Amino acid sequence: MGKKYYPTIGLEIHAELKTNTKMFCSCKNDPDEKKPNVNICPVCMAHPGALPVINKKAIENVIKVGLAIEGKIADFTEFDRKNYFYPDIPKGYQISQYKYPIVSGGHLADFDVTRVHLEEDTANNKHFPEAQLRGVGVSPKLGFGEEGYSLIDFNRAGVPLMELVTEPVTFEDAEKAAKSASSFAKELQLILWYLGVSEANMEKGEMRVEANISVSENKKKLGTKVEVKNLNSFKSVEKAIKFELDRMIKLSEDGKDQEIVQETRGWDEGGQKTFSQRKKESSHDYRYFPEPDLPKMKLHEAFDLEKMKKELPELPQAKRLRYKKDFGIKDEDIESYINDFELGKWFEEIAIFLKNPEEVKIASNYITSDYLGIKKTQTEARLPSAGNFAELINLVADNKISSRVAKDILAMIVLKDESPLKIATEKSLLQKNDEKEVKTIVEKIVKENPEVVATYKAGKENAIMSLVGKVIKESKGSANPQIVIKMLKDLLK
Ligand SMILES: [Zn+2]
Repeated sequence: MGKKYYPTIGLEIHAELKTNTKMFCSCKNDPDEKKPNVNICPVCMAHPGALPVINKKAIENVIKVGLAIEGKIADFTEFDRKNYFYPDIPKGYQISQYKYPIVSGGHLADFDVTRVHLEEDTANNKHFPEAQLRGVGVSPKLGFGEEGYSLIDFNRAGVPLMELVTEPVTFEDAEKAAKSASSFAKELQLILWYLGVSEANMEKGEMRVEANISVSENKKKLGTKVEVKNLNSFKSVEKAIKFELDRMIKLSEDGKDQEIVQETRGWDEGGQKTFSQRKKESSHDYRYFPEPDLPKMKLHEAFDLEKMKKELPELPQAKRLRYKKDFGIKDEDIESYINDFELGKWFEEIAIFLKNPEEVKIASNYITSDYLGIKKTQTEARLPSAGNFAELINLVADNKISSRVAKDILAMIVLKDESPLKIATEKSLLQKNDEKEVKTIVEKIVKENPEVVATYKAGKENAIMSLVGKVIKESKGSANPQIVIKMLKDLLK
């Protein structure tokens, strides 16, 4: 048996905060703006003499995140300049936080949080290949060469960006590590949504996940660290980490661990593999120093932290526990409500109308499998009123309609919100528990299907289900299947 390798993962997650204006100026913070370079001003374009002003709302948002993950909110905090040159940072430095982050510590899912700090986002650097430029008729006179050229959109420059860094966690195996990292990112996204501080849409780059990965034979000693980037969905977080860990473990097993080098790797969605983007140059010196144009902050004086803590909304984990305790429904159902806030609210309204825990479970089942199933194929399907939906569940639970009829009525009320009892009465779909009436149909079907009856009598017990189906169809779904089966069995003895 080969040696065992333990994967270690640390995460760095950036999330653009939802504020009206940018971090240090009054430009609009609009991630959906399509036109380049319209939300810009002398401050975010770094014109000489322009001075930044702190956006208090952004600080408040980061404090909320800190309170939600039970981190420590700094008493003293400040901004620093992180100096480096790149075309997407107009100032030649990024305003970030170094020594005194807003939040230290905290915990979420399987990870301990090291810190949460605030910085400004960079501009968007867009590269246009030569072929694409010709395609849209851009004149070669503009001087693009073989490689095409890059254009910069500064709308995003200076947008408030939260960065959360976790402590490294060592896992037992690659699969568990990859799943845990992906669940962490998902849980953080939920918290950001519940707090209303970020849209955190990964596909749109509003939330960006980077994973620092290493493997080691020794749980106490970390191996060479590789950083994986370009992860724009939870699935790709999981797949990229799993791929990278498998790659590193394979190299180690083959005695080629010197081929694991400190580098940044991207995720190739098409090829489903990681690839080397750049080898780590000798450690970068950002020459951090406190930003002289911004005041230092005393958060305990500037914010009423106790009040903010009390006013936090119910968070995903608390909601899970409450749903489990109050409704006793399945974990998968609970997740549907955690992920879809509106659906959860609707479910809770329905539960008020229901008589007992059994009905609540039935209702939840109809919501998560049937209603969500309909919604997948019919975009015009809407949540009916909680009262009408509860009435449907009452009818099914009291055996007044069959589950087949219930599904049919559900398909109607998601298009037109009506009383299920009214529909069932008008279309005579109420269950015929009246044995006499059902018996007439059962006798008719038996008479009409001698071959099936013969097959059943010859010992093929499953054949009875075909008769049950025919009886139910004949009754337009209103016959109670349990009663039908019993009658058929009695009749065919
Ligand atoms: Zn601006």
